[in-house]
Amino acid sequence: MEPLPVTDSSDAQSSNMCKLIPPTLRENESYHVFLSYSSTDYSWTLSLVDVLEGAGLSVCYHERDFTPGRTILENMSECITQSQKVLLVLSAEFVRSRWCLLEANMSLFRDCLERKPMVPVLLDQDVCVPLHLCHLTYIEARHPDFINKLLHVLCTPNSDLRGSSVVPYQPPSVYNGKALLPLTAANEDSLNSWDAGVYSEMDVPDQLRLIVRDQSTYRAAMAIINQVSQTQVWLRPLWKRVVAYIAGLCFWKYDDRRRILLEMQKAVGKANVLMFAQKVLMGCRSTSKIYLVYISLDSCRQEFEKQFSAQTSSEDMFRRALLYFSSGYTCCLAKKHFPFTTAPPSGSSGHLPGGVCFCHYVSQMLERGQWLDQ
Ligand SMILES: [Zn+2]
Repeated sequence: MEPLPVTDSSDAQSSNMCKLIPPTLRENESYHVFLSYSSTDYSWTLSLVDVLEGAGLSVCYHERDFTPGRTILENMSECITQSQKVLLVLSAEFVRSRWCLLEANMSLFRDCLERKPMVPVLLDQDVCVPLHLCHLTYIEARHPDFINKLLHVLCTPNSDLRGSSVVPYQPPSVYNGKALLPLTAANEDSLNSWDAGVYSEMDVPDQLRLIVRDQSTYRAAMAIINQVSQTQVWLRPLWKRVVAYIAGLCFWKYDDRRRILLEMQKAVGKANVLMFAQKVLMGCRSTSKIYLVYISLDSCRQEFEKQFSAQTSSEDMFRRALLYFSSGYTCCLAKKHFPFTTAPPSGSSGHLPGGVCFCHYVSQMLERGQWLDQ
């Protein structure tokens, strides 16, 4: 993004900016605001520093204010402690960078202790905001009145910010049916239409850590999905397919793309059998992307127990429902769109207020005969 225009001091005199008086720094405070940003946004951030300092605020940022010879963590911890507020410059690169997330996590930690307000400034429109920041209200850098809005917040004493749109840290709002970060296949860039996406089997992504706490279950679930690429994709690479085609092996009659997507959806169903206890379901609508949704299936599971109590295994019925329908259900939840009327069946209020619960979805799909392998 373009750096902010330099404000002439005479302009500042005539604008509202000069009416805002920075809060008095207390004995243990050295700065009004600590800036956390990605180095790729350095020039924009520097232009912001000029504006803020021009308005009389003391600003702390690491390029200038960190003490040489101390670790980054020591520096960061001290600077945040000495600042009244923490400003996050949210760009796609900020979110991607672990270093910045670490900073964000640490300010959250401080927040818990001291209720230090965080002020997120949204630099790009398409930023996928980390879950533990998504409850905060942003100030958009592209807004015409951005500087005034920001100065107003920074010049408001912390004690007066309680209950305002920029709030001190609160636990992230996670609710049933909330779409979480979508996962993108590691091989997305080289993914052929007949190939299956492969996903990282390393630790749970940072943005999901507050939700998915069991690393080993998550890894096992991803390994199930990755097996599709290993066991179901025939004739890789391309030249083998061309040879097979020339040799007249009519495997071309299979619609590979659909078949592989179906195999991935079944694998995601299997993975969901593991994941549902973590209150997370996955859904696969394309081979290169997996949606994740936060959802508790406890009530729906009890409904299965009631419905199938006469039969030996309601547990088995629930498991089969997960295998066949959980991927499609998750995609509908993530997109907030269902292929049928979303009113719960008569006499039932459903188990997902304002949405379609899993047992309602399963009964609708069974009525339509839409099993995954048909
Ligand atoms: Zn239900």
